[in-house]
Amino acid sequence: MQQLMAVGPTTFDWREAPAPRLLSATDAIVRPLAVSICDADVLYMRGRLPVRAPFCFGHEFVAEIVSLGDEVTGFGVGDRVVVAFLIACGTCAACRRGLPTACTTVNAKAAFGFGIYGDWGGALCDLIRVPFASTMMALLPANVSPAAAASVGDNLSDGFRCVAEGLDEQPGAPVLVVAGGGGTPSVALYAAAMAVALGSEQVDYLDSDPSRLAIAEALGARPIESAAAPRRMGCYPVTVDASGDPTGAWLGAALRSTAPYGRCASCGVYLGDAPVPLGAMYDRGVRFTIGWNNPQAHMARVLELLAAAPGMLDPIHTIAPWNEAIDRLAQPPTKLILARPEAL
Ligand SMILES: [Zn+2]
Ligand SMILES: [Zn+2]
Repeated sequence: MQQLMAVGPTTFDWREAPAPRLLSATDAIVRPLAVSICDADVLYMRGRLPVRAPFCFGHEFVAEIVSLGDEVTGFGVGDRVVVAFLIACGTCAACRRGLPTACTTVNAKAAFGFGIYGDWGGALCDLIRVPFASTMMALLPANVSPAAAASVGDNLSDGFRCVAEGLDEQPGAPVLVVAGGGGTPSVALYAAAMAVALGSEQVDYLDSDPSRLAIAEALGARPIESAAAPRRMGCYPVTVDASGDPTGAWLGAALRSTAPYGRCASCGVYLGDAPVPLGAMYDRGVRFTIGWNNPQAHMARVLELLAAAPGMLDPIHTIAPWNEAIDRLAQPPTKLILARPEAL
């Protein structure tokens, strides 16, 4: 079979590899139909993630089931499924709490598509083995295309969890998404889209990039342009930091704009320390969360929202043919989705 190898941050190569096979009764073998390029993939391509090549590229995907181990329940051969990017057992105490990134069965943070914590393969291939398949996969609703749902297993569920916790607590509350700095731009836009879908009465989207601001407006958010991080933007019950900016300027703007006892969630990728305005947080009891996404805990609710409005993410997505992967990766748009013809 063919698989796309990342040979270096900007060098990709389709190579032949042996087809995977079922190794355990809890495995599935699936054929990826649509793969979206994660914000972390783009960080890797810019040399900002310390990951060693070569490895098979891609980890956000929708696939068709080709074969199933005897103990996989709830799925059949031919089903189309979203697959979580993060490998976790689904049954240990951490997984049962909805925290697969802390799974104690598999090395915590084992994942497809980066060659870290074990070689689990990548999604830009003809066939891939999914371990713990009963809990790693979710059925794709019949009215949602694989391309539209390609990022559910990672960036889209990450955007969802950044706003859902606060909006579950205070339904309809205003939301501020701070996307300046551009660290995780697709997660920022997904957070805005999910806040609109969850019924926030006003979603404000702060960014320095005009093209992303236009996308946010098309999603139903109010775009606010700012070339540099403001100190404070107002007072929002729910805020999101998607900057990943090591100066902490945009993160500080999100934290200082969080209402008393509101929630601020960060989906930024921080590989070192950044300053945090603890005094402002203390003063207003800001509840701050940061960390890897736990997609398995959110995929079902995200798919429900997508099924209710299957085109809601179209302004974010640039869909390109699967066989153009190498050319398209040379200059990736805000959110690139590589799709086989049957995935559209
Ligand atoms: Zn990712
Ligand atoms: Zn586990």
